[in-house]
Amino acid sequence: LKVTITEVPVPVSYGPAFEGERVRKDDVYLECGGGKTPCFELVRIAEMDAVEDGKVEVIGPDIKDVQPGSGLPLGVVVEVAGRKMQEDYEPILERQIHHLVNYAQGVMHIGQRDIAWYRIGKSAVEKGFTLEHIGKILHAKFHQDFGAIFDKCQVKIYTEEDKVKELLRVAQEMYRARDERIEGMTDETTEIYYSCTLCQSFAPTHVCVISPERTGLCGAYNWLDCKASYEINPTGPNQPIAKGETLDERYGNWKGVNEFVEKASRGAVSSYNFYSVVYDPMTTCGCCECVAAVLPMCNGVMTVNREYTGMTPCGMKFTTLAGTIGGGNVTPGFVGHSKYNITQRKFIAGDGGIKRLVWMPKMLKEEIRERLIKRGEEIGIPNFIDMIATEEQGVTEDEILPFLQEVGHPALSMEPILG
Ligand code: SF4
Ligand code: ZN
Repeated sequence: LKVTITEVPVPVSYGPAFEGERVRKDDVYLECGGGKTPCFELVRIAEMDAVEDGKVEVIGPDIKDVQPGSGLPLGVVVEVAGRKMQEDYEPILERQIHHLVNYAQGVMHIGQRDIAWYRIGKSAVEKGFTLEHIGKILHAKFHQDFGAIFDKCQVKIYTEEDKVKELLRVAQEMYRARDERIEGMTDETTEIYYSCTLCQSFAPTHVCVISPERTGLCGAYNWLDCKASYEINPTGPNQPIAKGETLDERYGNWKGVNEFVEKASRGAVSSYNFYSVVYDPMTTCGCCECVAAVLPMCNGVMTVNREYTGMTPCGMKFTTLAGTIGGGNVTPGFVGHSKYNITQRKFIAGDGGIKRLVWMPKMLKEEIRERLIKRGEEIGIPNFIDMIATEEQGVTEDEILPFLQEVGHPALSMEPILG
């Protein structure tokens, strides 16, 4: 492996060679997020005179203030300004944080948005790494890679619980607004989809193809984001794909997409379906916000989000599911997807759509409540949300089936899910 040390002002080695490196539990000096503390990251546009280029502030305790093995809340807020900077570019810069932070030796980053998870290893801390260096990395690399679209960049790193929670709500409102920009666009009327191969350093055969009605499984990239990313960086990870001839309308399979996926996965994956969890679903990488799985006994599908740490009716917890299917393969019966995708009209449409959804964690149901109610009305079952079981009814198929029968869940009268 070639170690490229880029000019980044950090006391540890820095480069793509360290991207896939893990920081094990026993080696952790500081951990943020990962279900233990609130953690989010946000890139937002700011006025020119409100940004002092290169300024990095840590607001709250830093590494020197905590003992090895500690946890802290974390909010990483990057403000960028410039004549060419647009709101549309915010998500693109934000999604870079994942690999840019991972490039630092002894630092691990997983996830994005409000499910980001940082681990800073003891070895990095021994060399002098502090939270301020996260800001230094982002400032240096954003200029290096995206200098053409902005002029100034400053970073604020919050670690006080109250402030992190307050800003988390602001960030979540922005994520929601970004997600909803795609509403109204349909796959049928869109001839060009976009690839995303950002995650290939972790999952070499993984290729996301993003259509208006199927956002990226990390939740951070929708079709509009990919389009903007391609405009900024025409040779980058988001390439336009002419979807070409429709080979299967129900399951969402296109000739042009398959050809692209085969090339981009170096022959490992020759075809996948956009709208199915049962038959040749899309490949999954470790970033997925949720994993859907078939529940044969209930004739339906469950989904679980990363933040839910309990058992699920498919017999696996989220971490096991993501660890098993997140390597970039097609795994029939399982698929990674974004939270937003659950209420997109094409969600597992080939398998019968959202009517198949029989179980999800209560916290996820609450998070997407409004949109779930709207979708229920759209499919003519206004109380559909109340028919979906949660851990309150049970965490095995045996436990939830009586509930599904009692409420008359539509999945029970659909054609067999495994044909
Ligand atoms: Fe891109 Fe997919 Fe990775 Fe998200 S999960 S960054 S859309 S490859
Ligand atoms: Zn990924």
